[in-house]
Amino acid sequence: MQRNIETITQTIHKYLERKSLAIEDAPWEIKKSELGGFGVFATRAIEVGELIFKDFPVILGPRAAPTCPLSCVSCYSRRDLRLCGKKCGLLVCSEKCEKSLGHQKECKVVRQWQSKPISEDLSVQLVRVLSPIRSLLLGEEDKSVVKCLKAHKSDQHGFEVDVMKDALALNVKEDEEKFMRFVCSVMDSNAFEVLVGFEDNQASVKGLYPLGSLANHSCCPNTCHVFDDKQHMVVRASKFIPQGSEIFHSYSRLIWSTSARRFHLYRTKHFLCKCQRCEDPTEFGSYIGSILCKVCKTGKVIPTNSLQTDKWQCEVCGSLIKKEEVANITFVLGSALNSFDDDDVAVMLRLLHQKLPNLVPENNQTVVELKYKLIWILVPENNQTVVELKYKLIWILGHQQGFAWNDLSDEYLSLKVNFCRDLLALLELLRLGQCKMRGLLLYELYSCYNEQNNRQTKSGSVSKVHENQMKSVLQEAADILMYDVTAPAEIKRMWSEEVQLKKK
Ligand SMILES: [Zn+2]
Ligand SMILES: [Zn+2]
Ligand SMILES: [Zn+2]
Ligand SMILES: [Zn+2]
Repeated sequence: MQRNIETITQTIHKYLERKSLAIEDAPWEIKKSELGGFGVFATRAIEVGELIFKDFPVILGPRAAPTCPLSCVSCYSRRDLRLCGKKCGLLVCSEKCEKSLGHQKECKVVRQWQSKPISEDLSVQLVRVLSPIRSLLLGEEDKSVVKCLKAHKSDQHGFEVDVMKDALALNVKEDEEKFMRFVCSVMDSNAFEVLVGFEDNQASVKGLYPLGSLANHSCCPNTCHVFDDKQHMVVRASKFIPQGSEIFHSYSRLIWSTSARRFHLYRTKHFLCKCQRCEDPTEFGSYIGSILCKVCKTGKVIPTNSLQTDKWQCEVCGSLIKKEEVANITFVLGSALNSFDDDDVAVMLRLLHQKLPNLVPENNQTVVELKYKLIWILVPENNQTVVELKYKLIWILGHQQGFAWNDLSDEYLSLKVNFCRDLLALLELLRLGQCKMRGLLLYELYSCYNEQNNRQTKSGSVSKVHENQMKSVLQEAADILMYDVTAPAEIKRMWSEEVQLKKK
């Protein structure tokens, strides 16, 4: 199919209409992007928080990664899984899911392909190659939606089809194989991870969102996307977007350094990002990817060209550092981070505060404790590992077993407050606007304030956090996380109350 702006625009608009997601006076259009290929652009100025579009997955299915827990192919529940009674080899959780229209169709296709029944141990593999199978069941209109998306040509795509033919011995027809390989490649470059279900019965699946796929990536995006309880993707402006600007979202982790993000994007999405943030060796003055100079001990070492990273230099004394040395340090820091379990809180804090007995640390010197050796590494305040450690601790303190709100010491509670504030300041430095992480951190900060207030009320002390300040923190968190199915229950209650008020 010829990929041109008119056909793509028409196909996408019709698709959204079929899914009842068309917005009147939608503020976007599809145009040629300077990045190559197509992109989504603002047809008028868009205010912070404004809805830009909603999208629905044309294909939704289990993820192929072996680390993902299995779930029912119909409702994605992870409980009471059993093989489908018709012996297709897929897993369902109930009679209702087995009889669902969606499953009946795919059940029939798989059984037609089988020369022998699929044994229980092979069923795992069949579940993981289900998305391309589902693409064959799409109607012609939906197939043409998939066809107007971009596929990357690469050998590693379509291993799902190899699994079907080799491991599962399915008799796939030639034209079916061709289309499925194309779909695999489209999904590899464009699918989003979506969480389905609630609390301890959540499954992570992947969805192909047509309009979401057409928006390009930036490590400094101007939108934030969340998924609601019906797997809709809800895309809103995280910053003010001037008329005519390209609309970007991020496929990568926002608190990773440029080399980590670019490597990850290249490996998973097959492109090298050249956005404004990637091009700035200081990453907007955050120095998230840099280390401190071992010669002058105060200067920050940054790449002389952030898109090449083969030469690193101290900003103060000009000393050159070999890229291997930087890579080594980054590796050591990364492995230290990964070596911590959730109950290693004391060790993580010691690392952050450089408080090892009998050693007087120099400026921002961090001790990395690997199992048997201690390594001194000089890092700036916002170094990626420091940031990730703080983020990890935020989700342990107040959440994990042994660190529930009631059990936290006053010291741990105020540390958590500081970490939240540090990361919120970093997100601002990185120009990330009203991004989802900001919403999550604000809610954690609000919860800390709440706990501090409760304690002060009990002890009769008066220095309480101002009620209005708390309210505004909570309100901002709720505004950012609106529609997000994974938002905290308290925030979900706030929206439903808002909706009730509007109805009256
Ligand atoms: Zn089910
Ligand atoms: Zn079946
Ligand atoms: Zn970038
Ligand atoms: Zn130096």
